Amino acid sequence: MEEDDGVKINVHPLTNNPSAVWSSIWHTQKVLPIHMESPADSVTPNKVRFVCMSDTHALTHNLNFKVPYGDVLLHAGDFTSTLPHKYKIVIAGNHEISFDPNCENIMQIFNPTTRTNSAESHLVTCLNIIKKPFARFTERHTAPTNTSQYLTNCIYLEDSPVVVYGIKIYGSPWQPEFGKWAFNLPRGKPLLSKWNQIPEDTDILITHGPPLGHGDLVRNGDHVGCVELLSTVQQRVRPKYHVFGHIHEGYGVTTDEYTIFINASTCDMNYIPKNYPMVFDMDLPAGV
Ligand code: 5GP
Ligand code: MN
Ligand code: MN
Ligand code: MN
Repeated sequence: MEEDDGVKINVHPLTNNPSAVWSSIWHTQKVLPIHMESPADSVTPNKVRFVCMSDTHALTHNLNFKVPYGDVLLHAGDFTSTLPHKYKIVIAGNHEISFDPNCENIMQIFNPTTRTNSAESHLVTCLNIIKKPFARFTERHTAPTNTSQYLTNCIYLEDSPVVVYGIKIYGSPWQPEFGKWAFNLPRGKPLLSKWNQIPEDTDILITHGPPLGHGDLVRNGDHVGCVELLSTVQQRVRPKYHVFGHIHEGYGVTTDEYTIFINASTCDMNYIPKNYPMVFDMDLPAGV
């Protein structure tokens, strides 16, 4: 989808060095930490309750907390889980290699002679959501492909929107290249072409990776978020919420005083699933 009119986002000249971009723009930016108090257990009439998780890495049997009740679960990738929410809205992360038909890694990972731990962990990851194909994949030692077709208990978004309770949600799995994982794209134009597909009237945006400056700080002090995603969110789309994960160490909530940015990574840096889901209520739009 081309944007003919409206705001056009340009590729930042330093797009490949997000820490340098951040050094040059941080003084123009607001990144205010928010303490997001979980609402009381009872649901408020006329509100829709969203529960945000990400990066559960198939460890949901091992959570040391109870997943809070809500109307809608938003999962920002690196699956997955079987949970009680009426709507489960998920996107893929870079670990969902069988969802990305162009992922270079997959044949190597699923080749029976070179099968590695990561192949096993991928199958376990799939097991939580796709019970039937699991047996078939292991019997045949063939790489599963287009796995998203087997998702039955959730709404899977891949550069696509869904409306629930009148609230417009859009999900996209892409992240800046890092290794040869699924839904990796170079920074700059390739990623921006995905962000240009996000409709301007999006209320809640879900991506796997963070925008620059919000929940994107890795342990060596580098900011690794996508600057074109930040520009798209701030200058064109202006969603009320942006939910993501991927950078586990960035778990937390911030705002630029318009959008609320939620890094909902459940796992910490050591893949221990210990971060509590982020929960927020949104008003039901009139007439819904
Ligand atoms: P995952 O493998 O679950 O996608 O990512 C796990 C961890 O890898 C993150 O918490 C982060 O420490 C690191 N990581 C992921 N993507 C990037 C990246 O683009 N740059 C850097 N420096 N680290 C990353
Ligand atoms: Mn992850
Ligand atoms: Mn908008
Ligand atoms: Mn990830």
